[in-house]
Amino acid sequence: MSEKRTEISEIGEFGLIDRLHQKIKTQHASTILGIGDDAAVIEAGDHVKVVTTDLLLEGVHFDLSYAPLPHVGFKAVAVNVSDVAAMNAIPKQITVSIAITNRFSVEAVEALYSGINAACEHFGVDLVGGDTTSSRSGLVISITAIGEAQKEQLSYRSGAKESDIICVTGDLGGAFIGLQVLEREKQVFLANPNMQPELDKYQVVTARQLRPDARMDIVHELRDMNIVPTSMLDISDGLASELFHICRSSKVGVTIYEDKLPIDKQTFDTALELNMDPITCVLNGGEDYELLFTISQDDFKKLEKHKDIHFIGYVNKEEDGKHLVTKSGTAVELKAQGWKHF
Ligand code: ADP
Ligand code: MG
Repeated sequence: MSEKRTEISEIGEFGLIDRLHQKIKTQHASTILGIGDDAAVIEAGDHVKVVTTDLLLEGVHFDLSYAPLPHVGFKAVAVNVSDVAAMNAIPKQITVSIAITNRFSVEAVEALYSGINAACEHFGVDLVGGDTTSSRSGLVISITAIGEAQKEQLSYRSGAKESDIICVTGDLGGAFIGLQVLEREKQVFLANPNMQPELDKYQVVTARQLRPDARMDIVHELRDMNIVPTSMLDISDGLASELFHICRSSKVGVTIYEDKLPIDKQTFDTALELNMDPITCVLNGGEDYELLFTISQDDFKKLEKHKDIHFIGYVNKEEDGKHLVTKSGTAVELKAQGWKHF
């Protein structure tokens, strides 16, 4: 009998990582946490280091027909910094590895690095190494970020407790809508190269897609207020999918309220223009790189008036499930679509 072949699409990206994870044993006491959170946690004397890595492929994660190389460089750093932020840690160093085809000139690689350098300055991180090699299928960028924190400052996905308040920063769905606009304009351009893309009206959403920021500002503010979120992650795959991660890791349920979900006006208007449901974009659109976190009720007063933090619901018992309360007051079961990579 032939060996069993399982399609990756049968178990999905998370299923695959889980399956690999089962066979991985860590050997060192200094490995405080391995696979399973936004970053690994490693003991380092009087503090801990967090380590995270992300891989970006041309044609999968970015399209150079509309993404300028400096933006691609900035984004590649920002998405890693965002995972460090999601641990409530401060990024310190990155390494950058690239694979390039001969389609890229020295100037093109320098343009990519101008964005990488701008991000290093913006986030206060040092670029300390990397690797350069050739590629047969476009540009590949792999960045690893290292951050620091005191052990008790870390926020894991697993710490949410019943009655905690669920918070999100900024607004959601913009990056997804920005991608739809960019793809639409690309198709228009391909059909008629004389047509100039009309992007002025969509600047907020296209910037969310092309040059996202990581919310280090929030991490610093929480520190200043002496708040350690009980759990935290960054919203890379969509709010619903990230809430599922908290539920699974913390063994809790959640209730969120549709009328509390933050959406920007341009995102809302453009979603309608594209015949999309804005709430679906908020729940399932990826790549916003905002922070999703939970705080204990005691900390609510300190954050209540914050202009860029929204309180979207609360944590329940696991057996109470995951629900979205619609504007009409009906509780519907929350579904996570997330990004399907396979
Ligand atoms: P994020 O979206 O926050 O970047 P991922 O969903 O990519 O996180 O990864 C979830 C966890 O699985 C992380 O701890 C990550 O380090 C780990 N992981 C992802 N891919 C692999 C892999 N191929 N081998 C080992 N660990 C992996
Ligand atoms: Mg993450």
